[in-house]
Amino acid sequence: MTVTAGAVTQLLIDGRLALGGGGAFPTINPATEELLGTAADGDAADMGRAIDAARAAFDETDWSRDVALRVHCLRQLRDALNADIERLRDITVAEVGAPLRLTQSGHLQGPINDLAFPADTAESYPWRVDLGVAEPLGVPTRRTLVREPFGVVGAITPWNFPHQVTFAKLGPALAAGNTVVLKPAPDTPWCAAEVGRIIADKTDFPPGVVNIVTSSDHRLGAMLAEDPRVDVVSFTGSTATGRSVMAAASQTIKKVFLELGGKSAFVVLDDADLVAACTRAAFAVTTHAGQGCALTTRLVVPRSRYDEAISAVVEAMAQIPVGDPRDPNVLCGPLISARQRDRVQGYLDLALEEGGTFACGGGRPSGAGFFIEPTVISGLTNDARVAREEIFGPVLVVLAYDGDADAVRIANDSPYGLSGTVFGADPERVAWIVARLRTGTINVNGGQWYSPDVPFGGYKQSGIGREMGLAGFEEYLETKAIAEAVN
Ligand code: NAD
Repeated sequence: MTVTAGAVTQLLIDGRLALGGGGAFPTINPATEELLGTAADGDAADMGRAIDAARAAFDETDWSRDVALRVHCLRQLRDALNADIERLRDITVAEVGAPLRLTQSGHLQGPINDLAFPADTAESYPWRVDLGVAEPLGVPTRRTLVREPFGVVGAITPWNFPHQVTFAKLGPALAAGNTVVLKPAPDTPWCAAEVGRIIADKTDFPPGVVNIVTSSDHRLGAMLAEDPRVDVVSFTGSTATGRSVMAAASQTIKKVFLELGGKSAFVVLDDADLVAACTRAAFAVTTHAGQGCALTTRLVVPRSRYDEAISAVVEAMAQIPVGDPRDPNVLCGPLISARQRDRVQGYLDLALEEGGTFACGGGRPSGAGFFIEPTVISGLTNDARVAREEIFGPVLVVLAYDGDADAVRIANDSPYGLSGTVFGADPERVAWIVARLRTGTINVNGGQWYSPDVPFGGYKQSGIGREMGLAGFEEYLETKAIAEAVN
């Protein structure tokens, strides 16, 4: 570790690094259960000052109108993050339990590089569009559309992919000209605080444009949702918390952007290469110990090939490297906390109560760390709670279907609609299924949707809005119509 045990991180408010009014709170290494150090514990007064600073930076400076400055600052941030990437990598592995190999992609390196997309988009974006002259209501008028930032964005993030979610919010929100108050999850304060330190020390972001308030207190997130000085609340987290964010934000009719939970289906057609599909499904559900909202957690297979599928997926699970996230081979590290480990364990107990069987796993390995064995649950239908509720662990439920329409019915029989996968040999049948799945993203035969120009988000209770891509950038823009009389 390049950050030593006992180190304390700071808040970023109005361009200055500072300790929080609530003192400090611990951050734990989930792979060893050891204390890593402490983080500044922001309190309500800190959050109030952060919102004030963001408001002033938006209302009283030219940030919202200076595209060149924004592009410069974002590119500078990307370069500064890359210059410090080994330190960030150490922190991410130690604090999040993120497997080292995933920091080469979705956990760290990818999201840093992806900051280029919103910067490039801002540079070439049509901020002003001339709609030409018309005579609405008989008045000759030149019509112009102007795209403008909303104002202050309150960004609330979860612990599971802290850098990915943080940069997918900061990038477009700032490129669009907003100012931001970021409230990270209490489980991963160091990841966010390091970004704050780099912004303060290594970039030209004007004071107040980015504020980062780490805290052990969830109510600081609720403050962002309620505060009339905040114009947008951009939330990623569980559907239950998303509901209360939406309710709180309704008091001030602020824009709500929600990226929530998932229970995505992996549909295997009867003509598919079953071993290839099941290997992919095992890989997906164990990535970062299943702590990904878009990971596929229901394997939906033809009843005629159910036993064959169970054997194939159990064999694939046995090949998944589990353990110390610092090991470059490991794919499945620990869960984030004892609380999450116990929550997943509760679902494993429930699976047995509901009549399910563990085809493999179902327990906790001995030794330190919040680990759960990669688990395959068989013998249940989609009505079981373990098939309907988000478990957020390396746990796959295998479900049988009868015919393609039944596969679609099962996949869609969920309050969620975030992602999905289809494996099949016949392109027409695959297309038929894809056209009927009610989800925001779908991988086909091993393809991967994740990239900076592809919008990501959920149907149904998986969220409102899209992150990344042009759609993600435009989430942070208002539209102003200007009508000028022509003589
Ligand atoms: P969570 O909902 O418990 O917490 C998320 C954030 O909300 C944290 O910063 C927390 O402090 C804050 N918060 C808690 N109560 C709040 C309130 N009343 N008002 C405002 N903010 C509040 O989620 P988590 O356990 O940190 O993360 C796991 C969840 O996140 C899973 O459900 C997962 O599916 C979801 N997730 C979704 C996506 C996506 O893009 N769809 C991405 C990652 C994670």
